[in-house]
Amino acid sequence: MELYKELSKDIRFIEGLNACINCGTCTAVCPAAAVSDYDPRMVVDTIQQRDEKELESLLRSDTIWLCGECLSCKTRCPRSNTPGYIIQALRALSIETGLFAESSQGQKQLAIKRTVGDHILKYGYCVYVDEVNTEMYPEQGPVWDWLKRNKELVLERLGTSYQKEQSGTLRKTSAESLNDLKRIFEETGATKRFDIIEDYSARVANSLDLDFKAERDSYFYFQYNENQQGKKSEQ
Ligand code: SF4
Ligand code: SF4
Repeated sequence: MELYKELSKDIRFIEGLNACINCGTCTAVCPAAAVSDYDPRMVVDTIQQRDEKELESLLRSDTIWLCGECLSCKTRCPRSNTPGYIIQALRALSIETGLFAESSQGQKQLAIKRTVGDHILKYGYCVYVDEVNTEMYPEQGPVWDWLKRNKELVLERLGTSYQKEQSGTLRKTSAESLNDLKRIFEETGATKRFDIIEDYSARVANSLDLDFKAERDSYFYFQYNENQQGKKSEQ
């Protein structure tokens, strides 16, 4: 596969890159650059070289997973580039090529897919109260445990439409709408990317001798809790 050619087809790449003058304004305003080694100017500079080897190494790196997608860079670039959009296109290509699985940060896509991604298709919500496992948020202390145990009462008092077939927040998403979401995921290539994430993650799990069967298997928890930035897992 010619990586630059593939990247050039992505509308986010087309919208995101005009011509970079390497001024570094994006890096200066980028919150991710302030707290990590991430550098959007370097990412855009690498892309502009159109070097297939450099591009491949970017796709297998942790770098492209450090952007927070805040789009502060969009508002400040003097050439109207949007490094955040370029990163989105790079992430899609990294998944489609399976290279995400070679990055410790990229491997975490499985945890995102099995929470936010799957919940959208199952409930119509990216975060759904029934699926919040409070053990995964120890920083919330006993408060979230109490809220979860008493969710019917709390959600009623907050005036939500939790699980009801009526208008309002947290209402039950109709079967027709869920089917529409499924078709959107299929048409946009998201379903295919989900399948690739599961497939390549299974290989990494196998190499680490971790369970890879259930929605919350030991590989999921490894990615969620232990796989830290810069700590490349053994493969
Ligand atoms: S702000 Fe724009 S022109 Fe400047 S380095 Fe970033 S992408 Fe390039
Ligand atoms: S979208 Fe990404 S690259 Fe742009 S400022 Fe936000 S974190 Fe930085």
